[in-house]
Amino acid sequence: PARPPVTVIGLGAMGTAMAEALLAAGHPVTVWNRTASRAEPLVARGATLAASPAEAVAASPLTVLSLLDYGAMHDILGPVDRSHLQGRVLANLSSDTPERLREAARWASGRGAELITGGIMVPPPAVGKPGAYTFYSGPRAALEEHRETLAVLSALDHRGEDPGLAMVWYQAMLLVFTSLLTGYAHVAALLGTAGVKAGEARPYVADLLNAVAADGPLGILRELTREFDENAYSDALSGLGMMAAGTEHVRDAYREAGLDDGLPAANARLYAAALAAGPAGDGRHPVLEAIRNPAP
Ligand code: NDP
Repeated sequence: PARPPVTVIGLGAMGTAMAEALLAAGHPVTVWNRTASRAEPLVARGATLAASPAEAVAASPLTVLSLLDYGAMHDILGPVDRSHLQGRVLANLSSDTPERLREAARWASGRGAELITGGIMVPPPAVGKPGAYTFYSGPRAALEEHRETLAVLSALDHRGEDPGLAMVWYQAMLLVFTSLLTGYAHVAALLGTAGVKAGEARPYVADLLNAVAADGPLGILRELTREFDENAYSDALSGLGMMAAGTEHVRDAYREAGLDDGLPAANARLYAAALAAGPAGDGRHPVLEAIRNPAP
């Protein structure tokens, strides 16, 4: 059977990769981008360049958006007449805050359209490849209706109807990822002050990551999960005082070496706050509580 038409708005690195994957899968693809010249390679491969955003959304039941942020979607679709948006499904895979996604969902409803929100978890070259996945949220029925088309881009992981969920998940995962990247850059910088190359540290870092993720009773992630979800904190193994002092020493080591201390200082500040507040006594994790109750 013929593949349904689909529109892609936003032809940056991601949007271009998405439009390419959809063309390769045999979908008729309509594209639009603020800077029209970016559409040329796609048009050469069979895409149709819409003359306006209104024409773009009118061309397909589903429009995929990949833009800098949700403000860009409002800039592009804000002026589009309701008659062009009525009954359309918009799948916005751009990054922004959960609250801006919720606001955008209300805006779309007000125009008679449905908004599916998504956080795609891979860089452009991995779009449409095995292992790619997207956290989706918003109306499940609309997602199911377009599942086959969206599956061309990545696997689908629908987290719930609240349109903010896609970004809550995306940003949580991104924080883990960026913390690992910047953590490792800090490792390389500190060891570098002693003439040690990152290559020497790599096996130690890899072992640590494996130990953290391990499923066994000593797996740190497993144990922390239990403490967070079951209010099962106990300071039997690593007291807050020790952790506060240890993270302070790390911060001071970076200062001593003349390195940027932003990340180590953030860790030290959090443990200091947890120590100052003390364990709640009801098993709640003091570091989690310090994050939940930021100092004014
Ligand atoms: P790019 O910077 O390559 O593309 C940005 C796109 O947004 C361009 O099409 C640009 O148009 C458009 N745009 C920006 N501001 C406006 C505006 N005010 N009005 C109209 N159009 C606007 O970004 P990417 O393609 O890399 O990323 C797109 C989205 O995907 C982002 O939200 C990003 O967080 C997310 N993402 C990116 C990943 C990556 O590895 N690149 C991975 C996962 C998610 P123009 O060409 O005219 O400038």
